[in-house]
Amino acid sequence: MFSETRTRRLTAADVGGWDADKLRYGINEIYARGGYDFATPEIKDIFMRLPWYRDRVVIGRSQDEAARHLSPLENANLEFLHVSAKPVYVRPIKLHLAAIGFLIGATIAQSLDADPASEKSGKQCCVCIDPGHPSENNDGGAVTNGLREVTMNWEVALLLCDELEKDGMKVVMTKKSEGEFITNKDRAAIANESDADLFLRLHADAGKSTWFTIYYPRKEGTVHGVTGPSKDVRQSSAAAANQFHTAFAAAPTTALKETKTHSLAAGRER
Ligand SMILES: [Zn+2]
Repeated sequence: MFSETRTRRLTAADVGGWDADKLRYGINEIYARGGYDFATPEIKDIFMRLPWYRDRVVIGRSQDEAARHLSPLENANLEFLHVSAKPVYVRPIKLHLAAIGFLIGATIAQSLDADPASEKSGKQCCVCIDPGHPSENNDGGAVTNGLREVTMNWEVALLLCDELEKDGMKVVMTKKSEGEFITNKDRAAIANESDADLFLRLHADAGKSTWFTIYYPRKEGTVHGVTGPSKDVRQSSAAAANQFHTAFAAAPTTALKETKTHSLAAGRER
């Protein structure tokens, strides 16, 4: 259907008129060319009608493995389609920052929905917010400029929750109260179990800097015997981080100055 995804670099002009279904199909078709064994039976059925897919599919092949059987051009187009398919995250965050003008360091990781084929058609967008601390590493209780980090993270999370819910999104929080102790592992588990589209970790740096930093997972790593995140999650996280960065940098406050996004190996914990 989209042979051009194999022959040339897609541009914004190409996909400007594509709706979510068409973008999703384009993504799936590229994975299909790499022999991906779709986890969603309905999607697999669609491609099994095509002789070229029946020749290519390898039973049990993951998306990451399929991507390794694609050309650099196809991988670049895949990443571009992923970015194009996820514009939803910019607006509410930007509005929120404009409203509160706070200084936040945020760690972003997409929830582990590895199959773009099953991706949320018609489902309410869900964001999991993780207000930083107290955890096994740090209680967040140190007072800086008259404020404890754990308090600031919690209050920002409540404001953000309100803003996102006003925009019709579902919000899941990793804590029920400011002082609730949750380990980093449990925070990740709560985000995964919520089937969130986006996992957003809120922290506030203690230094004198008035800048901001956004972290996202760039590499695969192994922690607690679990390896991840998948390539799809890493690509989505990079796209979300860049969108957040653009929104933060545009926030109309002199207190919030631009630095840059930083990538992070999976599993490193604050
Ligand atoms: Zn922190």
